[in-house]
Amino acid sequence: MRPVRALRVYLDPMHALVLAVALVLPLHGKTVVIDPGHNGANWSHPAEINRLVDAGGFRKACDTTGTSTSDGYTEAGYNFDVALRLARILRHDGATVVLTRTSNDGVGPCIDERAAIGNRAHADAAISIHADGGPSGGRGFHVIYKPNAPESRRLALDVRQAFAPATGEPYSTYTGHDGLDVRTDLGGLNRSTVPKVLIETANMRNAEDARLLESPAYRQREASGLARGLERFLS
Ligand code: ZN
Repeated sequence: MRPVRALRVYLDPMHALVLAVALVLPLHGKTVVIDPGHNGANWSHPAEINRLVDAGGFRKACDTTGTSTSDGYTEAGYNFDVALRLARILRHDGATVVLTRTSNDGVGPCIDERAAIGNRAHADAAISIHADGGPSGGRGFHVIYKPNAPESRRLALDVRQAFAPATGEPYSTYTGHDGLDVRTDLGGLNRSTVPKVLIETANMRNAEDARLLESPAYRQREASGLARGLERFLS
């Protein structure tokens, strides 16, 4: 009789439901903040985006316009597209996702507010998505983390490890080391109290990278790679 009773307790519907949710939704209970760099109307609002804010012990402009490919595909639009693709995947896996901006036709928010959004959400992980405006002869991606922040570094390693095979994109040939960089001048990282990284997914000024970034199918592969990296970090 006893084993049967024990079995009935184990199959209690609520416990079975909790188990099923955990198996089907690997990010259930996790909060991820996605920060698509810049914004589509920053270029036409210089006074707002040049306003100085606290970037972590020093003053820096609220934001910049971002870069673009040579045929005019803007970084702000690209960042936002990849962020939406990533958000869809993470929500499908059960995560709570917060975006620092919800359109690409506005101004800001400033870098300090982008960090504050992640802090207020008590994010388990936060990622800023950018594409670089580097020298046209260089290509590749790099992930930037905070100095003296082991969780930021661990997130950077997990994102790097998943992003490279998902996209085939090489480590940056013109900056950082082995696809990684540490920077102290980025307010969005400095002001974050949650594990956060910034990825420069490619170099928009390089013809080969630009061709890839302009492909929706490629951007979907990038989003999958980022999602896999975040899942690795959060599991
Ligand atoms: Zn950028």
